Parts: sequence; C-alpha cells; structure tokens
Amino acid sequence: MVQENQTDPKIEQIDHIRDAVRQLCQKYGEDYWLEMDRNHGYPTEFVKELTDAGFLGVLIPEQYGGSGLGVLEAAAVMEEVCRSGAHAGVCHAQMYVMGSVLRHGSEAQKSAYLPRIASGELRLQSFGVTEPTTGSDTTQLKTTARKEGNNYIINGQKVWISRIEHSDLMLLLARTTDPTKVARRTDGLSTFIVDVKAALGNGLEIRPIESMINHHSCELFFDDLHIPAENLLGEEGKGFKVILDGMNAERVLIAAECVGDGRYFIDKASAYAREREVFNRAIGQNQGVQFPIARAYTQVEAASLMVEKAARLFDAGLACGSEANMAKMLASEASWAAGDVCMQTHGGFAFAKEYHIERKFRETRLYQIAPISTNLILSYLAEHVLDMPRSY
Ligand SMILES: Cc1cc2nc3c(=O)[nH]c(=O)nc-3n(C[C@H](O)[C@H](O)[C@H](O)COP(=O)(O)OP(=O)(O)OC[C@H]3O[C@@H](n4cnc5c(N)ncnc54)[C@H](O)[C@@H]3O)c2cc1C
Repeated sequence: MVQENQTDPKIEQIDHIRDAVRQLCQKYGEDYWLEMDRNHGYPTEFVKELTDAGFLGVLIPEQYGGSGLGVLEAAAVMEEVCRSGAHAGVCHAQMYVMGSVLRHGSEAQKSAYLPRIASGELRLQSFGVTEPTTGSDTTQLKTTARKEGNNYIINGQKVWISRIEHSDLMLLLARTTDPTKVARRTDGLSTFIVDVKAALGNGLEIRPIESMINHHSCELFFDDLHIPAENLLGEEGKGFKVILDGMNAERVLIAAECVGDGRYFIDKASAYAREREVFNRAIGQNQGVQFPIARAYTQVEAASLMVEKAARLFDAGLACGSEANMAKMLASEASWAAGDVCMQTHGGFAFAKEYHIERKFRETRLYQIAPISTNLILSYLAEHVLDMPRSY
C-alpha cells in the first residue's frame, strides 16, 4: 500500500509487518481455506496464531496490552491476509469492534475487556446491528432493551450476525426509547456488551444461515434476555454514535482487504496468462487477455491510494468519513473487477475449486453489499460532501 513512498518513516515498520504476516499466512495454504469453505469450518488455529503474534491487537493501545499502532498498520495486516488467499472475514472484526469499547467504554470496561481481547482470551468478533425488517435504515431497528432494576431485558431479532458462534462477546444495538419519543432519528438506541455464552439458551437463540460464502453468519432471536445494566456501552440513547464511531476504521480495513483480494487476483491472472499456451503461444501475449488485467491492476492501485489516504487521516485524528467510504467503494469495485478478469483469464479452469479463484470471487463480492452497500455510500457522498438533497 505505501511501498513506493520511500520517505515515509512508517514504511520500514509496515514492510516488516507485511513480511511477518506473509510468513504466517504461508503456513495456511489455499488448500486449508478450500477445506474450510467446503466444510463450513472455522479456522481456529489460524485466528489463534494471528492473535498470538499480536496482529489482531494492532489497534489496541499498549497500556491495554496491544501494539498501539494505527489503521495504516492494521490495513497492511488485513491486505496481506487477503493477498495470501485467506479469508479475512473470519477474524477482521476482532480488530475494529473493540474500537467502540476503547472510545466509549468506562475505565472499568476498558480494563476488564481490552487486555483480554489483545491476548485472545476474549474474542470480540461479533456485532449485532442488522435486522430483517429494517435493513440499511438502522435508525428504525426494532429490537428493544427495557430497563428493569439492574438489568436490561432484550427482545427482538437480528440477521446476518457473523462469527457469533466463535465469539465470547458481541456488541448489540437495541432500542431503549420508542422512536415516537426521540428528538432525532439517531436517538433512543443503546449499545450493549453481550456475554454470548451466558446469553445462549437464556433468552438468546442462534440459527446459522446457509450462505454463498463461509462467513459464519447467523440469525439471532432474543426472548427476554437479561443483560446486566453495567454492560451498557457509552450513554443510554446514544448507541448509534457508539457504533457509528467504529465504522470508519471498519470501512478502511474492509477496503484494505479488497485491495489484498485485488492483488491476489492480479497475481494469479498475470501468472496464468504468462504460462498458459493456446494456439502455440502464451495467452498473455494477446492484448485481449493482457489489457483487461492491466486495467484491473490500475483500478486496484488507485483504490489502494484512497485506502492509504483514509487510514492516514484516521490515524491523525482527522475527519475521514468521506475518504473511508470512497476507499471502501473503490476497493470493493476494483477487487470485483480484478476477480472477474482473473476468472476470464483462467477460462474453464476458473470454475475448478482446486484453482481457488471461484472461492475468492464469491468472498470479495460481499464487500459491495456489507458492511454498507454502494448505493448508501453514494447517497452519503451526494448529501454530505456534494450538498445535494437527501434522497431517502
Ligand atoms: C455475509 C454477510 C455478513 C454480514 N455480517 C453482518 C454482521 O456481522 N453484523 C451486522 O449487523 N450485519 C451484518 N451483515 C448485514 C449487512 O450489513 C447488510 O446486509 C447491509 O448493510 C445491507 O443491508 P440489507 O441487506 O438489509 O439491504 P437493504 O437495506 O434491504 O438494501 C437492499 C438494496 O437496496 C439498496 N437500497 C436500499 N435503500 C436505498 C436507498 N434509499 N437508495 C438507494 N438504494 C437503496 C441497497 O443499496 C441494496 O443494494 C452481513 C451481511 C452479509 C451478507
């Protein structure tokens, strides 16, 4: 991502991080990921090794046991994981969900959770926002949290909640005030830290969703789940901001994953174009084969610059909402374009699972839809950057 800027003092450290992540990922080859995909398995060993090496705690400050580095370094980790052929969706949330605890947690919550998240003793890999009937219109979510004594009682339903079966903790967004009684659409929602094991069978039911990729996503049903009041994260009624504050880091990191996927596809496509011979010559000798690869390469490299810009703004504590969104949109479109070219370059073999391309092709498609869809990014830019009327 920043390899070519030799004057940047961070470069050497980021290059070391990249090398170390590459070496770790080499132990888990593409056949490992193929097996996971085939059997809907969870790569526990991989996630543990990545955590033990400190890579998933990159963003946690040193005082809480993490590395205290920035999103620029975290993005390099995620990019390399994806470039190796792995599926970073199995663990990326461990990196950024904790940002809400870091920024909005009380000192007691931070000391209780962050060191154990950094060490891997606690996995905070899950966040419950999306609901079946509200979709992208998060402010209209219907899951309720009613205060009763020292507890909040949760009722409602969530959908597409990923990795919850492989998490100890989940951040949950629920409604604490009726929407008719709030001044702003974003008021009246609160964020909670849920102890998943304690909740399971005591008001929380989890049902896995069969889906196109191995993302471990589930439907959740809440029926009078009791959560201790001390697990409220941030102020009651201001939970939308607690979740929203973590979203810029999430978008930049997902964008970095897409850059990694894009580079994976370009590596594979150009290698195959060099070696595959048809009509007595390498297929890459044909402009009809090499130009689309070169074009996709250009798109991925351009997206990478926006990822870097957004990461640097975030790390400097500056506003980066539009850059983070643009990075996510550009990178998800670039990785999809690179995946399409890689499929086309491989001809029929692209469909063979042993070539791994079809798996990555499915995986990278997600990022034009989640965590935010392209249309919602465009409407954000139109309204908040270009000052056009709100379209919804
Ligand atoms: C594999 C997977 C994993 C996920 N993991 C999680 C998770 O861990 N936690 C979590 O909370 N959520 C998760 N999600 C949910 C994800 O964030 C949502 O799917 C995403 O935000 C889109 O919401 P939706 O599916 O309800 O689509 P909808 O909101 O129903 O939108 C459908 C389509 O309509 C378009 N659209 C809607 N409104 C407008 C408008 N006003 N203008 C223009 N276009 C519009 C959208 O862009 C989209 O293309 C996951 C989803 C998937 C598929």
